[in-house]
Amino acid sequence: MKNHDLPSYLSKDNLGPWEIFLEQIDRVIPYLGNLAYWAESLKRPKRILIVDVPIHLDDGSVAHFEGYRVHHNTSRGPGKGGVRFHQDVNLSEVMALSAWMTIKNAAVGLPYGGAKGGIRVDPRTLSSGELERLTRRYTTEIGLLIGPDKDIPAPDVNTNPQVMAWMMDTYSMNMGRTSTGVVTGKPVALGGSLGRSDATGRGVFVTASEAMQRRGLRLEGARVAVQGFGNVGSTAARIFSDHGAKVVAIQDITGTIYAENGIDPRAALKATEHGGKLGATPGVSEIGSADFWSVPCDVLIPAALERQITSENAGKIQAKIVVEGANGPTTPAADDILADQGTLVVPDVLANAGGVTVSYFEWVQDFSSYYWTEDEINARLDRLMREAFTALWEVSERHGVTLRTAAYIVACTRVLEARALRGLYP
Ligand code: GLU
Repeated sequence: MKNHDLPSYLSKDNLGPWEIFLEQIDRVIPYLGNLAYWAESLKRPKRILIVDVPIHLDDGSVAHFEGYRVHHNTSRGPGKGGVRFHQDVNLSEVMALSAWMTIKNAAVGLPYGGAKGGIRVDPRTLSSGELERLTRRYTTEIGLLIGPDKDIPAPDVNTNPQVMAWMMDTYSMNMGRTSTGVVTGKPVALGGSLGRSDATGRGVFVTASEAMQRRGLRLEGARVAVQGFGNVGSTAARIFSDHGAKVVAIQDITGTIYAENGIDPRAALKATEHGGKLGATPGVSEIGSADFWSVPCDVLIPAALERQITSENAGKIQAKIVVEGANGPTTPAADDILADQGTLVVPDVLANAGGVTVSYFEWVQDFSSYYWTEDEINARLDRLMREAFTALWEVSERHGVTLRTAAYIVACTRVLEARALRGLYP
């Protein structure tokens, strides 16, 4: 890596997820033609805001949390991307997540740049009141950057429609008017979109079925393994199961479960409610967490956090197709191992783009104050995802590259074309 690629504000010894993104950009540069001239601009975020988020805890003491909002690129439109509440959130991670939003939005053709935010906090340790105060103070602190035509946050790991409702209300109170379009993933009663909660999992299912068709796999009886059982993993598992596939393994922070004849995702979800464990699901056996990767299956869905599939475990994966519900779950070294063993990877920037796609529909509905039916949303989502898959598949065939590189070719071309046309100011 060239030294000038590295920002001084990240530790050189541990670049974290940002390093994965830099390598992904290096891999696409040879395919960008004259636009490679502008590629350096992707290797640094446009702006980074780090905020202190102090709140009163229920016991009367004051606690300080570290919050972030990063705009990676706004060449094609306002910033767009989620807000993550997690104890491991850090600058490198938020930078990488914001950059993946730039690529994702451009790859599927949404008129947005890329942004992401987060708070370094384990939300399980907070009461509902503390969580609300944290969300409201964070929203006020990043108020400099967000707005319906500037940067539109949305849910991500450990954030949900209620958190979006607090963000929308806080921004609206600060502005002195109700602004529904400032966040997406809101409750439907506040201008949220029907179909938004299932959208990411549904998109995972749609792109997985496109990939399965091209590999000659049938949905009926297909064996699926899912890592992460939050919004994305549990929804994808449910939709696969409803289409006749067998969810043979599920892993989350509470354990790893296996059932050769298939796990009922609804029963697994019920088992994990109110702090319960996956292992309490009826009719399953528990296996070791490392054994999850070698489970015999056709489709593997990492839907948890980044850097889960590494050079350590990629060789054990038996699935014919990996569909990335999470952002950044596969390291570049693991990507090479998977490609060499013939495993087809549907990359995050395509596979999990269903969420931001319905976020886009929500934003459009908020602007026009005219709301679509759930069938309309799902049909539009389905069509957009299938068309995006087909377009990227053709690029991957034409250049003889992985679907990830194809997605980066298409996305970086779109972003850098906009960059070149806008020119350098002043
Ligand atoms: N957090 C989701 C993602 O990583 C959705 C972002 C959005 O809807 O803006 O794509």
